[in-house]
Amino acid sequence: MRHIRKAAVIGSGVMGAAIAAHLANVGIPCLLLDLVPTSLTAEEERRGLTLDHPAVRNRLATQAIARLHKASPAPLYRPEFAQRIQPGNLEDDLAKIAEVDWVIEVIVESLEPKRQLLERIEQYWRPGTIVSSNTSGISINEMVAGRSDAFRRNFLGTHFFNPPRYMKLLEVIPGSDTDPELVRFMADFATRRLGKGVVIAKDTPNFIANRIGTYGLLVTFEEMQKGGFSIEEVDAVTGPALGRPRSATFRTLDLVGIDTFVHVAYNVHAHVSDPVEQQAFIVPDAIRSMVERGWLGEKSGQGFYKKVKDGGTTRILSLDLATMEYREQVKVKSASLEAAKAAKGGKAKVQALLAGKDKYAQLAWDIVKRVLIYSAEKMGEIANSPQDVDAAMRWGFNWDLGPFELWDAIGLVPSAKRMQEEGLTLPAWVEAWIAEGHKALYEEREGAVYMPVGGMPAPVQVPAGVIDLASLKQVGRVVKQNAGASLVDLGDGVACLEFHSQNNAIGPDILAMIEQSVSIVEREFQGMVIANQGRNFCVGANLMLMLMAAQEGDWDEIDLSVRMFHKAMTTLRYSAVPVVAAPHRMTLGGGVEVCLASSRVLPSAETYFGLVEVGVGLIPAGGGCKETARRVSESVSADEDLVPHLARMFQTIGTAKVSTSGDDALAMGWLSENDRVIVNGDLQIAAAKAEVLRMAEHGYTPPVRDARIRVAGADGKAVLQMAARGMWQSGYISDHDLLIVNKLAHVLAGGDVPADSLVSESYLLDLEREAFVSLCGEPKTQERMQYMLAKGKPLRN
Ligand code: NAD
Repeated sequence: MRHIRKAAVIGSGVMGAAIAAHLANVGIPCLLLDLVPTSLTAEEERRGLTLDHPAVRNRLATQAIARLHKASPAPLYRPEFAQRIQPGNLEDDLAKIAEVDWVIEVIVESLEPKRQLLERIEQYWRPGTIVSSNTSGISINEMVAGRSDAFRRNFLGTHFFNPPRYMKLLEVIPGSDTDPELVRFMADFATRRLGKGVVIAKDTPNFIANRIGTYGLLVTFEEMQKGGFSIEEVDAVTGPALGRPRSATFRTLDLVGIDTFVHVAYNVHAHVSDPVEQQAFIVPDAIRSMVERGWLGEKSGQGFYKKVKDGGTTRILSLDLATMEYREQVKVKSASLEAAKAAKGGKAKVQALLAGKDKYAQLAWDIVKRVLIYSAEKMGEIANSPQDVDAAMRWGFNWDLGPFELWDAIGLVPSAKRMQEEGLTLPAWVEAWIAEGHKALYEEREGAVYMPVGGMPAPVQVPAGVIDLASLKQVGRVVKQNAGASLVDLGDGVACLEFHSQNNAIGPDILAMIEQSVSIVEREFQGMVIANQGRNFCVGANLMLMLMAAQEGDWDEIDLSVRMFHKAMTTLRYSAVPVVAAPHRMTLGGGVEVCLASSRVLPSAETYFGLVEVGVGLIPAGGGCKETARRVSESVSADEDLVPHLARMFQTIGTAKVSTSGDDALAMGWLSENDRVIVNGDLQIAAAKAEVLRMAEHGYTPPVRDARIRVAGADGKAVLQMAARGMWQSGYISDHDLLIVNKLAHVLAGGDVPADSLVSESYLLDLEREAFVSLCGEPKTQERMQYMLAKGKPLRN
């Protein structure tokens, strides 16, 4: 049976080092090999090293690993995971690939060096070891021409997108001799272990996402020049208004590197046979001229945009392609763009933009229609289904909708008619599909969705282990719901409590649903998952409600809200059946408190977890302080001093620290040893459901009610407050920060009781509530809340 326990990455450049980092993230140790340098650096000469010294010979990989710590966004889940990467070089260490299960080639994008390297790899290759290439578009078959049959059976393309930790897409490209079982294994491994969205691509120039994406960029450029639009006008149309990222067209090109773009476009031009298509991939003169001038985008300091510093302010100028000079950007506004801005979600935005009547709506249509037709023309040649093309564009280019999903969103039949009226020819399969009476490319029938594959309706594939709450709700699996949350039946005796309020902030409706859900699952289910598929798990309690009550001086209302929160969290904690929380992305304040009250937590790898109340002038008061005190008391033996452990958590909460990953949340001390990270967020609900069933099967018993908690008391509080005073004296924290963290110290230490007193949960919850209500009365706290609601970031006053 195949497995991957150890890997080797060859090439330690931009992608190689980051791929090694991602393997390290998920616990796979790897070798990172690169060329042996041919000359010494000044520093190496100063240290008296020679070209034979291992530090010199491994320099490229060693430096690449060091750079991982500085890269942004961070390629590593935790800095110490870099220890899982062992640097080496291709002359001394290539034989070590006999010890690994997967060798990934990530060297320069050129056929000949890749072929030569694979020939050398085969000399040390052990039958069964997987070998893959990260090429962006070179033929997989050509790369292994001349290698043995056995080697070719174990070879395939694995195309990661940059940056590999964060970009979901992995294109898996079988060669004509690749073992089909290896393709299945790799797709499954990359999905489960690496957290990727896998799309199987055919061995054609630039595979799927870069083929369509590059075409789209070139078409956009052409339409821009035809209509005399500016760089910023095109970006205003081709960003969020078209369901695409803010970086739109030209900011994306600046980030990717304009030279890289030219290289990628040329690869299609050089390798396709259709003259019309060849023509479409000719890079325009203006872009060539930019490369000649060294205007390569972000890495060279200027591209389509240029940042200039004027005294203290930074301005971003845009390139005027007519004069090749940078100038001030002109604000872009129109009715269609405004309508798109007001619409919620990618689909509604695209619909609003294309329904407009102004020149920007026309530009959007002129771009979109050509991308849709090209995607449809290429579909069968580059991919196995429309679904794969859509997934590749969503995961590889961060589009909200793939081309075929977009086509349905704007109405397949009327837009196809408009294209024909404008003289375009539809690909035969689209024409035939419409002629058969289909109204959309994705059609729902009897609870399933079908799309055309080879002229026939084929069911849309849902990868094993993916549970989609929206689909379950559509087929009537809602057990109970209100405006803020729904309880959804996941089947097999497990229900899922899904938050769906604005930003998933917790207000009275969610608290009520928590209480009702526990009562229902205790009667009718084996246990409950708390998870949702929104952008973030939960950004905290509803601050707006709290601020309104504070501004009206309604302290009873605030007191009551805290009591309701406490009641709901207590209900969760003592639920008779297991509750597994599965948070993802932003999980802040009240969202963390929900997790801490659950029996187990399965965060996704990308979870940014923190009690951040201090940032809005408050302290955690949904049981967060109580849970922290309880966990600290339980983590030490009866005769051990609590204070050092408490001090660590005091600092974490006092500085509103947020984890940078799920693994980081574990290391920060929030989670327990039974909690574990699920790398692929799409599989999280299924994993949480399985966990509930496992816990139920093994005989779940809720925690003992009102067990006593040992607290640090007045002495511990004095130590914490002294540390805070030191921070204040050195100017690290403001007067108001000091006031807040003094209250935090009071609550975490259990108030003014003697050291090591045993207190009840409700006593600690009362301390939380009193401190919280008193802070709400502070004008500077109200300013912080207001600022956060208006600007989405904390105010340090
Ligand atoms: P890079 O230039 O940053 O790194 C290439 C590395 O390969 C360098 O460390 C170099 O020393 C080494 N190298 C060069 N020639 C070699 C040889 N003959 N033998 C062994 N090592 C050699 O390149 P990169 O951006 O990391 O790209 C690497 C591969 O990944 C390419 O195939 C590229 O198309 C692909 N890719 C790149 C991106 C991206 O955004 N950069 C994205 C997806 C795929």
